[in-house]
Amino acid sequence: MNETVVLKRKDRIVKKPDFTEKKSYRPVNVKETGLSFIGHEISEDGNVMNQFFHYDQLYTIRHGWNSKFFKGLLEGKIWGTRCPKCGDTWVPVRTHCWNLDCNLEKTEWVEMPLNGKVHTWTVAGWSGRSSLKRLPIILVYAVIGKSKVAIANELHGIKPWDVEFEMSLKVVFKPEEDRIGAVTDFHFEPADGWEPSPIHQEKERIKELVEPVYKWVKTLK
Ligand SMILES: [Zn+2]
Repeated sequence: MNETVVLKRKDRIVKKPDFTEKKSYRPVNVKETGLSFIGHEISEDGNVMNQFFHYDQLYTIRHGWNSKFFKGLLEGKIWGTRCPKCGDTWVPVRTHCWNLDCNLEKTEWVEMPLNGKVHTWTVAGWSGRSSLKRLPIILVYAVIGKSKVAIANELHGIKPWDVEFEMSLKVVFKPEEDRIGAVTDFHFEPADGWEPSPIHQEKERIKELVEPVYKWVKTLK
């Protein structure tokens, strides 16, 4: 009969990492207050009450096996993963192959080229408060290299009506000192030498839709 092996918590399979390289870019005014009621207001006639509730909490995102991707962003590199059995690659990364024939084979790291193609896109005419002045924002799902999946990010350096399916892109990183190891460390731009096709009916339609957004943004202080 087979003996059952029970792993105790102290017999960790993976050694706990020793974090020696630390960097903090927390804004000075950010304090972890957790959940707290910070005030209220009551109308003059006493019939209506509003309460102000503030939530401020530190989150830890543990990247584990995916860490190389995020560390790569700091270095201006896009790392993907590749299945050693079937050769499929992925950005965003997958730790195990999704091909059914590969039986969840563990993938290996591969540095991806800094180029891609538009899989699909949308034009955002509204956003959270911090991005309002940058509207309209073009969001693309782009295929980097020969990835089997697409990654979402902003597309800059092009008019919203000129975006096309399959158009060639380049990955553009922020200056090194501004990178934080998040996908916002880079964006897409049209590949060098790319030229928009002449204006046509569909382009005119998108242009009409986004023109009021440009006008409205100009009114923002
Ligand atoms: Zn595979």
